[in-house]
Amino acid sequence: MNKIEATNFIEQIINEDIENGKISAVQTRFPPEPNGYLHIGHIKSMLVNFGTAKKYEGKCNLFFDDTNPSKEKTEFVDAIRKDIEWVGYQWAKEVYASDFFDIIYEYAEKLIQDGKAFVCDLSPEEISAFRGTLTEAGKESPYRNRSVEENLTLFREMKAGKYPDGSKCLRAKIDMASPNMNMRDPVIYRILRATHHRTGDKWCIYPMYDYAHPICDYLQGVTHSLCTLEFEDHRPLYDWVGINLGFEPKPRQIEFARLAVTNTVMSKRYLKKLVEEGHVHGWDDPRMPTVAGLRNRGVPPEALLDFCTKIGIVKANSECQLSYLEACIRDNLNENAERAMAVLEPLKVTLTNYEGEEELETALHPLKSELGVRKVKFSKTVYIDRSDFSLNPPPKYQRLKADGYVRLKNAYIIHCDEVVLGDNGEVQELKCSYVPESRSPFDTSGIKVKGTIQWVDGNTGVDVEIRRYGVLLKDAEYAGQDFGERMNLDSEYIYHGKAEPYLAACEDGKQFQLMRVGYYKKCTNASGGLVLSEIVSLKDNFNK
Ligand code: ATP
Ligand code: MG
Repeated sequence: MNKIEATNFIEQIINEDIENGKISAVQTRFPPEPNGYLHIGHIKSMLVNFGTAKKYEGKCNLFFDDTNPSKEKTEFVDAIRKDIEWVGYQWAKEVYASDFFDIIYEYAEKLIQDGKAFVCDLSPEEISAFRGTLTEAGKESPYRNRSVEENLTLFREMKAGKYPDGSKCLRAKIDMASPNMNMRDPVIYRILRATHHRTGDKWCIYPMYDYAHPICDYLQGVTHSLCTLEFEDHRPLYDWVGINLGFEPKPRQIEFARLAVTNTVMSKRYLKKLVEEGHVHGWDDPRMPTVAGLRNRGVPPEALLDFCTKIGIVKANSECQLSYLEACIRDNLNENAERAMAVLEPLKVTLTNYEGEEELETALHPLKSELGVRKVKFSKTVYIDRSDFSLNPPPKYQRLKADGYVRLKNAYIIHCDEVVLGDNGEVQELKCSYVPESRSPFDTSGIKVKGTIQWVDGNTGVDVEIRRYGVLLKDAEYAGQDFGERMNLDSEYIYHGKAEPYLAACEDGKQFQLMRVGYYKKCTNASGGLVLSEIVSLKDNFNK
């Protein structure tokens, strides 16, 4: 196996391990707990685990860390698999911590036999009271010096179901005076009567994460166990397990910074609250930072990997601006999304001097002429967006005003001759005339106009529900406040607009740049109507 040109500290470490002959192939694992849906932070973890293995032509397993039966479900296992496939990674093996429950148990007996673990009768409250503080050593459990025989008997009885939940536990015998709290005789097995999503009611004792994880890594042949920074303080325990169970070669735990993004949140607990309290439509609501939400929103997975790659893999936690993520999505869609026209708030324009209809041409993509053009109908009535006409235009206003000119994109220049107001004083319709010699791109009219606006043909245009989204969490100035207070409850806006018929005819899920509006995904609502759902705005306007 060869070294690669290191682009981050993890690759540097792996290169050293290769140089020193410590490893002959890279094996990693992506270790979600199946207790919820994956989010964009997990995409970073996928990039680190799958991505690193791939670079070294090694392997990455999908490892379900299912040691917490009360919170885990098969529904989440299925969702996680689907999400990883969508992001574009393939796992070598699918492995569950529960596959190893028997071996993990055997290892616990070995620790007992070696005098390195004991059964403790303290209650969970007593254990934490005995643990001490960061500045004070803890107190040893009165059960710490039980004989090996007594410990073995008790542990086997725990397994056989002789004791109630929480009445006993198995603890590693390490050091109650360790400056690292995780080393103060940590609990490694607990009694818990909960039905496990895979092992059912076979077990009434379950291993703790910190004890089970190094064993599962070792049994899978993991060379580098890549995880987030909050596990740094757990590494001494990870290593203790490996040393005391005689693992060779020992897997190596390396920690990297968690991904955090402004104006959104990645804790499963909070995302769950949003779903359960009905603030969003579900785990896959387009506003959610979940993989399912991002997919539903129409974000291409390549843009997410690009984002995670660009922010890099580093050792220090920091918060990334949401606008940076949006810029990565925009760059991808600008390159790949076809162009089309729609208006959010239609304003009827009658071209009094136009008769009949014609077909104009529009490029599918202005940067990719090889994709060619498509036809767009044009007739006597068109819809423009209300925001593109002003009764009281500010100086230098470039869009349409009374007695002013504007260009309809890829069509003609029009002149506003008359503004028809409704009873309430609202603009109801514009009567305009078109300039026949101004047809794009062969304009011979000699009229100079500054503004170009999008439009939809009145004869063939279709009704559309346009959905736009705001951020889930209010700005950083609210940081530190309770999530409940930071929640942006008003984050979905619905418009009833008009769109080109082309949009209704194309397949669901297709992404478009709606010219001058933003990047949108085509979908269909429950009653079969056309929906355009915002992926990302056209410009970074969210700070305004
Ligand atoms: P959460 O509860 O916030 O969703 P978690 O750590 O409980 O996160 P797990 O399913 O246990 O979620 O995580 C699987 C892997 O993904 C772990 O290795 C974890 O370190 C990593 N991970 C989780 N959140 C992030 C994040 N925001 N950035 C990078 N990696 C993450
Ligand atoms: Mg976790």
